[in-house]
Amino acid sequence: MFREDILRMSGYVPGEQPQGRKLVKLNTNENPYPPSAKVVAAIKVAAEAGLQRYPDPAATAFRRRAAEVLAADCAAITPDWILCGNGSDDILTIVTRSFVAPGQAVRYATPSYSLYKTLAEIQGVGQDVAPYEADWSLGYRFAQANDEGRPVRLAYLANPNSPSGTRMAPGEVAALADTLTCPLLVDEAYVDFAETSCLDLVRTNERVLVSRTLSKSYALAGLRFGYVVAQPQVIEQLGKVKDSYNCDTLAIAGATAAIDDQAWLAANVAKVRAERKRLAQAVADRGFVVTPSDANFLWCTHPSNEHMALYQRLRDGGVLVRYMAYEGWPAGYDGLRITVGTPAQTDALLTTLDAVMKR
Ligand SMILES: *Cc1c(COP(=O)(O)O)cnc(C)c1O
Repeated sequence: MFREDILRMSGYVPGEQPQGRKLVKLNTNENPYPPSAKVVAAIKVAAEAGLQRYPDPAATAFRRRAAEVLAADCAAITPDWILCGNGSDDILTIVTRSFVAPGQAVRYATPSYSLYKTLAEIQGVGQDVAPYEADWSLGYRFAQANDEGRPVRLAYLANPNSPSGTRMAPGEVAALADTLTCPLLVDEAYVDFAETSCLDLVRTNERVLVSRTLSKSYALAGLRFGYVVAQPQVIEQLGKVKDSYNCDTLAIAGATAAIDDQAWLAANVAKVRAERKRLAQAVADRGFVVTPSDANFLWCTHPSNEHMALYQRLRDGGVLVRYMAYEGWPAGYDGLRITVGTPAQTDALLTTLDAVMKR
C-alpha cells in the first residue's frame, strides 16, 4: 500500500516520555518549571467560553501580541509577518512543503536536529548534509551552491544548535544567508536562553525565516505552539500550505497569555542560565568535556567512560538523560545531552553520576 520511500525510512524517534516510573527527566529539553499562571487561567477562560466553534484559523490574538513583543528585536514586525503552528515542528513541515518539490533537495548540518532528515524523507526530496567542524563551526560546505544533482531549495539551521548548544552570531548567519541561493530557515527553538537572535535578519532579507517555539523557554511543550517570522509576502504563501485549523482555541489562548508575560520569561531564563553554569562546572569537575552552551542543555562527552553504559546506569539509578549517536561524524561519534533542570534535579544527577562513573 505504501510509497517505497516511506517503507524504507526509519521515522523520527522522539526522546522518551516515560509513563510509569518517576524519573528525574533531563532528556528532552523541557523546562523544569511550570508556565506562567496566566497561561492556565487563559486556557480555563477559553474552555468555559465554549469549544463548539472552530478556532481562529489565523491565530490573530497571538500574532497581535507577539508582534508587539518581537518589535523590540525587529522593528518592522507586524502581525502579517507571523504564521503560527501546532508546535514549531508543524512550522518546519509547512516550510518544507512550501519550498521543496520532488527532484529537489534540502540542506542541513550534522550533528543537528534529526527531524530535518525525517521531513526530507516524508517530502521525498534529496538531502545535502554538511558536517560541522570539530569546534562546531559551520564548514564552507553549508554555504556552497550545490552544482551537481538535485538543486537545494531550503536550508535549515538550528541556532543555537542541538545537541551542541552552540550558536552562530547574527552577522555570520547574515553572511550565510547572502551566500546561499535558497531560503534559510533559522530554527530558534532555544534562542531565549542565548545571547543573540537572528530575528532582525528577516527585515532586510526575504529569504530568511526564523522559527520559534513555546515548548522550551515558555514551558509549554504539552500545549504545542510555535510560529515563524518572515516578510509578509512569504507568510502569505506559507498560509496556503498549513492546515486550516492548525492551532486550537485552547492553544491560541494559552500561547497569547504566555508571550504576554515577559516578566515570567525573564525570571525563568535567569534561573535556567544560572543552573546551566553550575551544572557545566559540576560535570566538568567529573572529567566530562562540556561544550559551552547557549541553550537549556549541555553536550557532554567523557574520555574514559562509555556513553551508552553511563546513560543506562543513570537510567537504572532514576535519572534520564539523552544518549545520542551520529553516524560518520567522525565515525561512531556519540555523547550525552543533558537538559538543565532545577537545582534539586542537578543534585540528583550528580549523586547518581558519582555512584555509577568509573574513576
Ligand atoms: C524542540 C525543538 C523543536 C520543536 O519544537 P516544538 O515546538 O515542540 O515542535 C524545533 N527545533 C529544535 C532544534 C528543537 O530542539
